[in-house]
Amino acid sequence: MVSVRHQIVLITGASSGIGEATAQIFAQAGAKLILVARRQERLAQLADDLNKEFASDIHTMQLDVRDRTSIESALAQLPSEFSAIDVLINNAGLSRGLDKLYQGSYQDWEEMIDTNVKGLLYFTRAIVPGMVSRGRGHVVNLGSIAGHQTYPNGNVYCATKAAVKAISEGLKQDLLGTPVRVTSVDPGMVETEFSQVRFHGDTERGNQVYQGLKPLTPEDVADVIFFCVTRSPHVNISEVLMMPVDQS
Ligand code: NDP
Repeated sequence: MVSVRHQIVLITGASSGIGEATAQIFAQAGAKLILVARRQERLAQLADDLNKEFASDIHTMQLDVRDRTSIESALAQLPSEFSAIDVLINNAGLSRGLDKLYQGSYQDWEEMIDTNVKGLLYFTRAIVPGMVSRGRGHVVNLGSIAGHQTYPNGNVYCATKAAVKAISEGLKQDLLGTPVRVTSVDPGMVETEFSQVRFHGDTERGNQVYQGLKPLTPEDVADVIFFCVTRSPHVNISEVLMMPVDQS
C-alpha cells in the first residue's frame, strides 16, 4: 500500500456528496488537499472541520469547472506548497432533468456536457503534464453505471458518462510508458444531493429515486477511490463498477 501522507490531492466537487467524503478519507490519511467547487462557504466549513479533526493542510478554490480561464488562472496562482499535484480526482458532475431526448432542455444539456465532460478535460489537460514531468501521479475520474447502460430518459447524462469512460481509457493509453495512473470509478445509485440537483431542487421527486433500494453512501465510493490510489505504484486499477446490491 502506498501512503498518501503529504501527497497533494485535488478534488473537484468537494462541497458535497462523494467529493466531500473523499476529502474526509484523504485528510484522515494525512494528504494535503485542494478542494474545488462553486459553494465557497461549504468548502470553507469542510476545510475548517478537517483542519480541526486531522490538522489537515487545505487550500480551497472557488470556481466553476466549466470556466477554463478561471481554472488555468487558479492553478497558476496555487501557493508553491500545493503546486505539485499528485492525485487529481475529477468528481464534479451533475445530471439535469429526466426527459425524453426530443423534449429535453438545451440549457440542461449544456450544463451536463460542459460540467461532466469539458470540466474534467480542462483539469486533466492542466494538471497531467506536471505529473508526467515529475514522474508520478494518479487521475481518478468519476464515471457512472450510466456510462455502461443507457436508461430511459437518461440520454444526455448517460452520454456524458460514456464520454468519461472513453476519456479515461484514452488517457490511460496516452500515458503508457509513464508512471501516471488512470482510474475510472463508476458507481450505481449513491445517496447525495445529486437527485435534488437533477430535479432542480424538487426534494419530493429527488427522494423518490431511492425508494425500494438501499443506495450506496458517499463513503462507500470514497473508500474505493482511496483503495485505488493507495495500491502499489505498479498496479493500475483501470475501472471499478460498483453497485447497490439491489440495483439492477
Ligand atoms: P453532489 O450533487 O452531492 O455533488 C456534486 C459536486 O459537484 C458538488 O460539490 C458541486 O459543487 C460540484 N459541481 C457541480 N457543478 C459544478 C461546477 N460547474 N463547477 C464546480 N463544481 C461543480 O453529487 P454526487 O456526490 O453524487 O456526484 C459526484 C459525482 O459522482 C458526479 O460526477 C456524478 O455524476 C457522479 N455519480 C453520482 C451518482 C449518484 O447516484 N449520486 C452515481 C454515479 C456517479 P457546487 O455546487 O458547490 O459547485
